[in-house]
Amino acid sequence: MAVELKWKNQSHSMRLAEGRVPYLEYPMFADSGIVRHGFSTRLGGVSEGCYASMNLSFTRGDNEEYVRENFHRIAEAIGVRCEDMVFSQQTHTTNVRVVTDADRGMGILRPLEYTDVDGLVTNVPGICLVTFYADCVPLFFLDSVKHVIGLSHSGWRGTVGKIGKATVELMKKEYGCEPENILAAVGPSVCQDCYEVSEEVIDQFRANFKEEDWDSLFYRKANGRYQLDLWKANELIFKETGITEEHIAVTNICTHCNSDVLYSHRTMGDKRGNLAAFLSLKSEV
Ligand SMILES: [Zn+2]
Repeated sequence: MAVELKWKNQSHSMRLAEGRVPYLEYPMFADSGIVRHGFSTRLGGVSEGCYASMNLSFTRGDNEEYVRENFHRIAEAIGVRCEDMVFSQQTHTTNVRVVTDADRGMGILRPLEYTDVDGLVTNVPGICLVTFYADCVPLFFLDSVKHVIGLSHSGWRGTVGKIGKATVELMKKEYGCEPENILAAVGPSVCQDCYEVSEEVIDQFRANFKEEDWDSLFYRKANGRYQLDLWKANELIFKETGITEEHIAVTNICTHCNSDVLYSHRTMGDKRGNLAAFLSLKSEV
């Protein structure tokens, strides 16, 4: 299947894994050899209409059997199992949950037993963390020494609240992770050119980020509104937690610039499916 993606820059932070079910991945995570991971596209699924075709949400009005088939297809492509998946329950919080063996299948084989969980961490091999997107920012984490993973949903509220930092803090507290061993990535989401926000939003960024960084995060336009860079903000948050520059990958794929291939809330509004991020420690390592 030929996939036409518009890349924002020439960095090799991400690449497309082609096949019957294409998905995006990070060379940095793949090269670690200890995880399976990926970020879905709209392609390769069975859903129809505004959900076409790889919708990965059970809660947006799509036919459940189609969504289930989509999960089986993307799971097979990435090399994970549906029964090992554990879903987030995203409400733009900075809450991060420690996922254990007992959570296996949560969200896909059985109903979620928790609410308001925007981030997931685990050290259990085989479990596949799953979070959901349509312009908001996915954050991927891997401690390649302790073998601990994290996956968090960071929209503008999560970014102002620094869920990336909350995720690393929990990895440190729960598993003794050291930030210098953590690989971290900012995933496909809305780029600065496509992300106009109000002064009220910017005021919250001014309150939570150093003044010396403001020029790299946003600029004001003649109409009094602002263009905000959530990719840069999350990169700054990674560095604030002690993650080193060479362990950070920032996406070069914008969901809104590529809304024919990726679901974008800014393009499609509520009549759309969801993309998903997947991250799992290999059980055979
Ligand atoms: Zn864009």
